[in-house]
Amino acid sequence: MKPGRLLVFAVLLFAAPAWSSGFSGMIVLSPAEVFQGGLVRITVSGEEVAEVSGFLTNRSIAFFAEAGGSYSALLGVDLEHKPGPLAITIRGRGKGKEPWDRSLLLHVKEKTFPHEELTVPSTFDRIDEATRKRIERERAALERLWALATPRRLWEGGFVRPVSGGVTSPFGLRRIINGYPRLPHGGVDLKGSLGTEIRAANHGRVIVRDDFYFSGKSIVVDHGAGLYTMYFHLSDFAVEKDAFVRKGDVIGRVGMSGRVTGPHLHWGARLNGARIDPFEMVDATVVKPEAGGSGAR
Ligand SMILES: [Zn+2]
Repeated sequence: MKPGRLLVFAVLLFAAPAWSSGFSGMIVLSPAEVFQGGLVRITVSGEEVAEVSGFLTNRSIAFFAEAGGSYSALLGVDLEHKPGPLAITIRGRGKGKEPWDRSLLLHVKEKTFPHEELTVPSTFDRIDEATRKRIERERAALERLWALATPRRLWEGGFVRPVSGGVTSPFGLRRIINGYPRLPHGGVDLKGSLGTEIRAANHGRVIVRDDFYFSGKSIVVDHGAGLYTMYFHLSDFAVEKDAFVRKGDVIGRVGMSGRVTGPHLHWGARLNGARIDPFEMVDATVVKPEAGGSGAR
């Protein structure tokens, strides 16, 4: 467990503007500082919280009701988000009370991701015009998904790793190929031999079951409340599109489809559109402990 996880920071609610004086509850960010690619849990409690919503500059944050009357949300910070303050607005209303509004600043800390320099023959990644268009189309289709979040939370408890194999390529790895930096690694590569069963990390709906140029046979599961997990380079699918899957259900098998050099599972996660380390979701201190939900890395 990282020590930063234990940090719980209560935001002091002084200097409230007149129009939001109706709120005397508490908003807690845990942890109070977050690394690039990490996630934060926001908890709002108090008697004025019968309804809560949250916003970043251009995205909404989905809150869900917790036992005991409080509301929580998970907020993802993209692995390339610039270090420094991240502004969050939270709005709410209690039963029969005036709406309130709060602005908070979350501190994003710079993370040192591993680097790798490679030299490959220049013909290795030469891409023709038709393929380039296909890649752009596929990238745009995936980007559109993150804006269409299912507001209701479908996931429950801790997330499970989809295969038991270890990490062969870490999250955020910066590759420099022939001197040119590439997009950082948006997920983790997990070891798995051809045909190894891949399990859904949590409950959700299969919103993508398709074959892409780079990621090959791919599945995206919508866990609700803005959270998605991705499974790439499969050899086979074990679920249909739109199927509802439960945590631990087999959704496909490890393969080497797409642009890869050997069989493995690329496992990724998106939260509020941000690319986050999927292992952040396995961290039981963030996503409420549950038996079996906190697998070791
Ligand atoms: Zn990968």
